[in-house]
Amino acid sequence: MGIEVQRVSKTFGSFKALKDVSLKVNDGELVTLLGPSGSGKTTLLRIIAGLELPDDDDKGAVLFSGEDVAKKHVRDRQVGFVFQHYALFKHMSVFDNIAFGLRVRPKHERPSKQAIKDKVMSLLKLIQLEQFATRFPSQLSGGQRQRVALARALAIEPRVLLLDEPFGALDAKVRQGLRTWLRRLHDEVHVTTILVTHDQEEALEVADRVVVMNQSKIEQVGTPEEVFHKPASEFVIDFLGNVNVFKGRLESGRAHFDTLAMDVPGLAHAPAGHANVYVRPHDLDIDRQKNGSQSLAANIERINPAGAHAKLTLLGVDGNEIQVDLPFERFTALNLKPGELVYVSPRKVHVFAPEYMI
Ligand code: ATP
Repeated sequence: MGIEVQRVSKTFGSFKALKDVSLKVNDGELVTLLGPSGSGKTTLLRIIAGLELPDDDDKGAVLFSGEDVAKKHVRDRQVGFVFQHYALFKHMSVFDNIAFGLRVRPKHERPSKQAIKDKVMSLLKLIQLEQFATRFPSQLSGGQRQRVALARALAIEPRVLLLDEPFGALDAKVRQGLRTWLRRLHDEVHVTTILVTHDQEEALEVADRVVVMNQSKIEQVGTPEEVFHKPASEFVIDFLGNVNVFKGRLESGRAHFDTLAMDVPGLAHAPAGHANVYVRPHDLDIDRQKNGSQSLAANIERINPAGAHAKLTLLGVDGNEIQVDLPFERFTALNLKPGELVYVSPRKVHVFAPEYMI
């Protein structure tokens, strides 16, 4: 089922938590809402769920499959939820937790005992916890509890699955495993899913499309590739991973920053003026000598070689700190040491000038 949010605003007292937000989520899509704390992600999710009402300003609407759900109560929206703090019933077994949503249905809608059993067992298989049916939540790990919470949400065959930081309370390794698992699960069940997270890696890894939020608005909607490689704003490039920023100038389609001047084809006709030049650490290369390509001199301050990329912190001649991620093989081949003077050359830059960008 597709979801459409049209021009929704939400005010708490005098604070605008959402400002004229519009968003389309396609049927069967997995979309992540990504943004810093307080940007409005949970508020948007709760409005879609029906747990919160949008401002009554005659503009805002939430549609499920084209139908306005403003008057539909939460329980009639057929939404499955999972929150950060697994709200499993402590006194119920895993089996009973998953069966709960089916057992509380009105008698005429309630499946038979056998149908409930079959459903729960198939969900236990899906979450790979078949042998844990009789355990209680306290006898499960955090990751296992969240898988049960997901199975419980799926048991009612929701038309939409809303996940609010479902892995937020878990450690990095478990989160990583659950992310991969969630993506696989989604590929099997294909229920339209919206996942709230403030974790960039998580958002980029699991989503079909990412919605980047900032200060009560949507900054950009795109595939993980689009938002990462074609960021629509300085906020997006800055929020999606480490990035170096150089204050510079744009003149006749060339960006001047530090000691460099590079052509910026997309801004060939932009008026001259101030520009910010962003370069991702992995888009910088290092050489011992000037090699003819555009490069700037810098001193190596620190090296962290643990990982597929060696992480280097350098100091440019103008005192600018520069982060470089160098493939480990290249790092070992160059045999770099702290204190050395080297030449740093950008492979790719993103230039943002007032009203223009590439
Ligand atoms: P986080 O990642 O920290 O959960 P978020 O992006 O989900 O943040 P929201 O929970 O949507 O942010 O909150 C957006 C803003 O609205 C925050 O500044 C928050 O304090 C405010 N807010 C949310 N709910 C209420 C409420 N019931 N009453 C007053 N202010 C609220």
